[in-house]
Amino acid sequence: MCDQCQALVHSEKLDQLAAEARQLEATGNLRQAREHWLMGLPLLPPNSRQASWIEDHARSLDAAANRMQPAPERDNKWAKKLGPVGPVAILLAKSKVLLTAIFKLKFLLSFVAFMGIYWAAFGMKFGIGFATLILIHEMGHFIDIKRRGLPAEMPVFLPGLGAYVRWQALGVPLDTRAAISLAGPLAGFFAAVACAVLWWQTGSPLWAALARTGALLNLLNLIPVWVLDGGQAVLALSKTERIILLSACLALWLVLGENVFFLVALGFGYQVFFAGHLPPQPSRATTIYFLIVLAALGTMIRLLPVHGIGN
Ligand SMILES: [Zn+2]
Repeated sequence: MCDQCQALVHSEKLDQLAAEARQLEATGNLRQAREHWLMGLPLLPPNSRQASWIEDHARSLDAAANRMQPAPERDNKWAKKLGPVGPVAILLAKSKVLLTAIFKLKFLLSFVAFMGIYWAAFGMKFGIGFATLILIHEMGHFIDIKRRGLPAEMPVFLPGLGAYVRWQALGVPLDTRAAISLAGPLAGFFAAVACAVLWWQTGSPLWAALARTGALLNLLNLIPVWVLDGGQAVLALSKTERIILLSACLALWLVLGENVFFLVALGFGYQVFFAGHLPPQPSRATTIYFLIVLAALGTMIRLLPVHGIGN
């Protein structure tokens, strides 16, 4: 780790090793993949999250490789040695199930605490609805990560702040990371549409409020700075693409009259003029994806009343 900027000094080499390891995993060379992951270890700070992830992952690759090509001799030896401690081994194996359950519990408990805050502040219906909207956004990320065959944990909620999905981005190309970041706001858009349809069907201002709040929060999340989803997605964009999105946001601001687009445009302005790192190649797919989600959320907000029905 660089003392000045806290960046990982070997991040390019690490990304390359991880990409090769994933390639080997995909082709079934689990033992070789394990070696590749372990080569990355000396390049990482020993107590970092990435280092412990690699250690865990190497262990699970080892286990998977043994399941695929069991070494008969070694198995017999183990069976004999295992004899009296067999039950302990089984218990250890079961503890993995227990750990998984605890992770799910963390998700559940944090979700309930998160919901409780908004319930207390805005009433039961809005509290449950709002927490569910955030959950749908997070599941957008989660499902996109899972469908790419990458490991991810169920979302964790920080009451009063937001939520996140923990996953391992090491060795994943920038445009894939960008797509995973944009999948949250896209899911959030569909959730807002569902609320808008319910508002239209029932006439209940609660649904309108949920739809508008949901769309607005997802749009704010697309401001391309810091740890926001937009801030992750922008990393895949070339300078020209950032300028295109900057112009698009200014146009959306003028056409839709929603000031939030000015904030998003400011973020892109920052990413055009002050950004340190630019990707090795442009990503047209990310540019289009970003544009579609921005325009969809903006249109949604424009069509919804500010305070209940009739305004
Ligand atoms: Zn997100």
